[in-house]
Amino acid sequence: MNKKLWLSSPHMGGKELEYVNTAFETNWIAPLGPNVNGFENDIQNYLEKSNVYVSALSSGTAAIHLGLILLGVEKNDEVICQSMTFSASANPIMYVGAKPIFVDSEKDTWNMCPELLEEAILDRISKGKKPKAIVAVHLYGMPYKVDEISAISKKYEIPVLEDSAEAFGSTYKGEKCGTFGEIAILSFNGNKIITTSGGGALISKSKTFKEKAIYLSTQARDEAPHYQHSVVGYNYRMSNVVAGIGRGQMLVLDDRVKARRKNYETYVKELSDLESQISFLKEPDSFFSNRWLSCILTDGYTKREKIRLTIEKENIESRPLWKPMHMQPVFSEFPSYVNGVSENLFERGLCLPSGSNLTKNDLERVISEIKNCI
Ligand SMILES: *Cc1c(COP(=O)(O)O)cnc(C)c1O
Repeated sequence: MNKKLWLSSPHMGGKELEYVNTAFETNWIAPLGPNVNGFENDIQNYLEKSNVYVSALSSGTAAIHLGLILLGVEKNDEVICQSMTFSASANPIMYVGAKPIFVDSEKDTWNMCPELLEEAILDRISKGKKPKAIVAVHLYGMPYKVDEISAISKKYEIPVLEDSAEAFGSTYKGEKCGTFGEIAILSFNGNKIITTSGGGALISKSKTFKEKAIYLSTQARDEAPHYQHSVVGYNYRMSNVVAGIGRGQMLVLDDRVKARRKNYETYVKELSDLESQISFLKEPDSFFSNRWLSCILTDGYTKREKIRLTIEKENIESRPLWKPMHMQPVFSEFPSYVNGVSENLFERGLCLPSGSNLTKNDLERVISEIKNCI
């Protein structure tokens, strides 16, 4: 059997163990510690903005959960969420007892459609409730239409929670994803562009938010010699061991972006003679995607499945694009504002092996299997 080719597998850079070893040698195995602070500084420096504050947490999902709390989302509030995304964008809305309102995508970036967002906001207001937050996602590394979404956020005074879990290293008009929302989040899960095996970060533009995020993520302990609590806390802080992996990964983030973009370019180049049957999402002007996953659009569900099942037999992993949240059984009862775009993408789209550790031969294998199949 040929070697298994994964969609997106972890890719260590080499220095990770040095940081992890330091944690062991100094016995900083507990959460908190020098690697955690170091990792937060590394991320802040990478984002190239002096006014962003980074809190390292146990997952991207935990970061979204705390982000919603920091934005004041409470029970029975409404929160707008991009429908086409991974469920982790929406689940935390349920954790706080709020109601998700799903908004469909546009074709240029596959992310939240600004026109539909405004329509949804106006409709929710007319029904008696102004949404408390907007969860917008940079899917597969492609930035959402930042200017348009930010303008609507400003116009209606509804903060954006920017889900940048898939877009670390992407930019919009030269500025890094993760710096646009009132609050943004990153993920370092095993399949993401860099990984700490599991982890996330909350990015905010205020120091108070950072302090509050750390306070809430470490069981909300008040100043006192005994254990004193005034609000409900969480155990969401990143551990110092895991942060060591993150410090090593930060050294190679730009290389990882280059490698993933190269994968995408290779797929485009080699599959371009099948243009009538396979197409790709291009970068609009001033959008720069880290190309976390390389995705193709086929001419329909039948072709999509044919490719997926054929390459699966050859030990090559692929996966349909995210199934929109408004089509998920768990969220089917919630309001949604749809235009057919995400349902169509889900039907026709397929994510191909995209790891930064794929070799030229690996890619050739995927490409020749797809060509054989159609
Ligand atoms: C991975 C991911 C998350 C969740 O991050 P975890 O670290 O796995 O909890 C959230 N949103 C999107 C879009 C993701 O892809």
